[in-house]
Amino acid sequence: MEFIDTALLAYCENHTSAEDELLQKITRETQAKVMMPRMISGHLQGKLLELFTKMQNPHTILEIGTYTGYSGICMARGLKPGGKLITLDINDELETMVRGFFEESGLAGQIDYRLGNALDIIPDLPGPFDMAFIDADKINYGKYYELIIDKMSAGGIILADNVLWSGKVLTEKGKKTDKDTQAILDFNKMIQEDPRVENALLPIRDGVMVARKI
Ligand code: SAH
Ligand code: CA
Repeated sequence: MEFIDTALLAYCENHTSAEDELLQKITRETQAKVMMPRMISGHLQGKLLELFTKMQNPHTILEIGTYTGYSGICMARGLKPGGKLITLDINDELETMVRGFFEESGLAGQIDYRLGNALDIIPDLPGPFDMAFIDADKINYGKYYELIIDKMSAGGIILADNVLWSGKVLTEKGKKTDKDTQAILDFNKMIQEDPRVENALLPIRDGVMVARKI
C-alpha cells in the first residue's frame, strides 16, 4: 500500500534528485531477474538514505540486508574517504549480480559484502558503527538492534526499514497479528522506550525508523 496519494508521491519523486544510470539499471535488473522486487529501496528512499549518509558522513556503516545493492550503494556514497560499508545478506544467489553492481559504482573498495546469517556475523564485527541500516528479516529486528546498539558510536544513527509494515501495525486490538507484524510492533515499542536513543518514525514508503544513539 502507498501511504500517500499516488499523484502526491509522483510529485515528491519529481522533486527528488534523479536516479542515476546505475541505480536505474539495478532497479530494472531487480525487476526482471530477482524475486520480490518490491523489496528494493527505490528512488525516493534511496536518495533519502544517500542524503542522511552525507549529513552523517560516517566512517563505518553496517547494513543488514543487502538484497541487490541499491540501498548499500546509496549509503556508500556518503562515506568518509577511507570509510567502509559492511553489508550482510544470507542470499548467496544474488552474489555475482551484486558484486557487479558494486564494481560499477566505483565504490567496491569501500564495500565489504559478506554472505551469511547476519545473526552469526554481527557478534564478530568489532564496530564502532556511525550508521546502521536494519532491513533484513523482520522477525529478527529486535535481535539486530540488541546486537548493534552497544557497537554504535555516540551520535550514531540506526535506520530501520518497513516499520509500518504496509500499515499492519494498526491491526485492530483483539485481532490476531501475524508473527512479522508482532515483531515490528515489538521493535517500534522497544525503540520508543529505550532511553539510549532519540527517535522519529518517518512515514516514508513503508516507514523508516530513525534512532540516534545519545
Ligand atoms: N536493503 C535492500 C533491501 C533488503 S531486502 C534495499 O533497500 O534495496 C531484505 C534482504 O534481507 C534480502 O535480500 C534477504 O536475503 C536478507 N536477509 C533475510 N534474512 C537475513 C539474515 N538472517 N541475515 C542476512 N540477511 C538476511
Ligand atoms: Ca526494506
